[in-house]
Formats: sequence, C-alpha cells, structure tokens
Amino acid sequence: AQRLNRFLAGAKSSATYAIMDRVAQKRAVGDKVISLSAGEPDFGTPAHIRSAAISAIQSGYTRYSQVAGLRPLREAIAEKFQVENGIQTDWRNTIVCNGGKQVIFNALASTLNEADEVIVPAPYWVSYPEMVQVCGGTPILVQCDAGSSFKLTPQALEKAITERTRWLILNSPSNPSGAVYSEDELRALATVLMRHPQVLILSDDIYEHLVFDDKAFFTLAQIAPQLHDRILTMNGVSKAYAMTGWRIGFGAGPAWLINAMEKLQGQQTSGACTISQYAAIAALAGPKDFIHQSRDVFQQRRDNLVGYINQIPGLQCDIPSGAFYGFIACRDWIGRTTRSGTVLKSDDHVVSALLDEANVATVHGSAFGLGPYIRISYALDDAPLVDACEAISKFRQAFV
Ligand code: PLP
Repeated sequence: AQRLNRFLAGAKSSATYAIMDRVAQKRAVGDKVISLSAGEPDFGTPAHIRSAAISAIQSGYTRYSQVAGLRPLREAIAEKFQVENGIQTDWRNTIVCNGGKQVIFNALASTLNEADEVIVPAPYWVSYPEMVQVCGGTPILVQCDAGSSFKLTPQALEKAITERTRWLILNSPSNPSGAVYSEDELRALATVLMRHPQVLILSDDIYEHLVFDDKAFFTLAQIAPQLHDRILTMNGVSKAYAMTGWRIGFGAGPAWLINAMEKLQGQQTSGACTISQYAAIAALAGPKDFIHQSRDVFQQRRDNLVGYINQIPGLQCDIPSGAFYGFIACRDWIGRTTRSGTVLKSDDHVVSALLDEANVATVHGSAFGLGPYIRISYALDDAPLVDACEAISKFRQAFV
C-alpha cells in the first residue's frame, strides 16, 4: 500500500528544511543555536501592507479569487514588469501562484514530458533539480565554479543544450552564491539561446531588489526581447517586501504557457489566498522605501560578515553582489579534525560539526550542487551575526 509515485520517490527532501529541523530539535533541548540558514528576511512585513490585508478581511474580500489571480493584482504585476524591468507584457500574460516556488513548479509540471532535459547551473537553489525530477524531467547540472564567479558561461550553455533540452533555469541574484548576471553576460547567453528555439527559459528574479553597490539589475526578457515568447519571468513579494509567509509569487510569459499553468492551478489550489493578494497589491503599488532601506541594511551586514569570515584561517568568501547569502569556500578545512575528534571529510561534515560543536547552523554547498562550500545567510541582526562568526572562529582555533 505504501507505494509512492516513482518521480517523487526519486526526489530528495529540501536540505535547508532538514537543517531547520535539526535546529528546532537542538533548541527544544535548550541549546542556544544561531541560525545562519534562513532563507527569509528577518524584518516584519511593512505596516501599510499588513493594513491592506486587514482591510481586505474587514471588507469581506474573503472568497475565492480568479484562478490566475485577482485582476487588479495581475495589472499591478504587468505594470511592475513594464516599469521596473522594461518587459512589455499585458496582465493576461501574468499569473499569481502560492509563492514563486509554485510558479516554477507549475511551469515545469505543465511542460515537461519524460526524457525532457532542464539545464540547471550549479550552484543552484536546492529545489530546482528536485522539482524537475518530481515533474518527470531530467535535470542537467552544469558546474559553474568560482572561476566563472559561479555563473553560466555561453560556452558551458552551448555544450549542455541538446535537442531534448526543454528549459534553462537562470537565477540572478543567485541563491546560494549571491552572483548577479550583468547585461553583457545575459546578452551573451541570449545569443546562444537564439540558436536553439526548442529551449524555454525560466528567469527566477526573486532577489531582484537585493543587488548591492549601486549595480543595476537586469533580466533576460528585458535584454533579449527576441526571446520574449520563450521566457517565463518569475518574481514575487517574499524577499523584496519581507512577505515569505503570505505565499504570493507571480510570473509573466507567453499566453500558451500561462494558460496551461492556469489550467493546472485550477485543478490544484484554485489560486492563491485572496487576502494575501490584496496585500500584494498594496506592496506593488505602494511606497518603495522599505526595499531601499532593507537593501542598505543587507549590504552593511554583507560587508561585516565577509570581512569577518575572510579573517578565519581556511575560509574564503568573495564579496557577493546580491541576495543575502555568503558562499564560503572551506576546502582547507577538509581533512582537519575538530576538538571533539570529528574528521571533516566533506562540507556536509563541516556543517554538522558547526551545528553540534559551535551551535551555528549553516548549509553545505554540496546541497546546492557545489562543494566544498558552506552557505551562510546574513538575514539576521548584527549582534548574533558577530556572535556566530566568533563561534566559527573558535571552532577553527580548536582544530587538532
Ligand atoms: N527562488 C529562489 C532562488 C529562492 O531562494 C526562493 C526561496 O527561498 C524562491 C524562489 C521561492 O520563494 P517564494 O516561494 O517564497 O516566493
């Protein structure tokens, strides 16, 4: 009776959730763990957005919405894509889902058939290959190491494409590396993609507003309007407006794809939470100061964190251009022995030992397809961030 769907059976559970579970278990027995594994801003949702949700409830907007989303939200999304990203789109070409995650899932589930390949540059967000697997496709992992600043090069893309390639997934700024593609880098990838009309492109722009050092953000549909009909641009309110729990993500793409995703969603969730959709309208249409303030806070934390980490012998972190993660090379720690006698054979062991012996939670790079690295999230206050760095430093000093 306990026979699972074979695609699901072949997929892994989320590595980041597994770490969060271990943190919860340790905290339950009284350990004071500092978690650097969070994938969400530590700020509260801005007051005007919360108020919009409360007034939606009080106004009785508590029924089902249209499957693809409330029309005023879809209009606000189309406007956002046009004004902020220079993507010419119409509200009919947009869809609202339960988080950006479900936009990606719906797109893959609507289009993948067995033997279809999806190119996933590594390091990647943990969910991409597993979603591809669950949807019956084959993830094609392309290693993009520090030598290419963790970014996909046109040569590596060209080499990975076959006639079975259905999708390329791009994520900029990247979780876990913080890498941001420049306009020129996207243009070079677009040139390759022009030669392969069978390939659709999913652009995961969820960290769009967390680009530092006054760098500009670019997305493929803006750079390569010739590819417009093959691109699904995905974004959402989770990271930009500190709204992870509201579960609102959205996408814009060709009508055939949006219609297929809507058909799937109609048999699945009936659409995103109506109240959250009203909150998302307030977010997209409202003031943008929160975005700028939180970006400045993250940039300051990034500078402090990277400065500290690079002073710890054997750890090396390039300055990430975006998102709120540091992707730290820990090659020199591999093979070393901790105070309690644990031999660090891989980045997985490093993460486990840091949690057990230093009470600091991180995530191993190999979970993101590239080791030996550890990913640190700096979505937490300065004081615990410094405490965590000190604990990591002491952990290193105690190597035998
Ligand atoms: N894409 C990336 C790269 C992410 O890191 C996340 C969340 O961690 C998501 C998409 C999904 O965001 P949400 O479903 O909260 O909108």
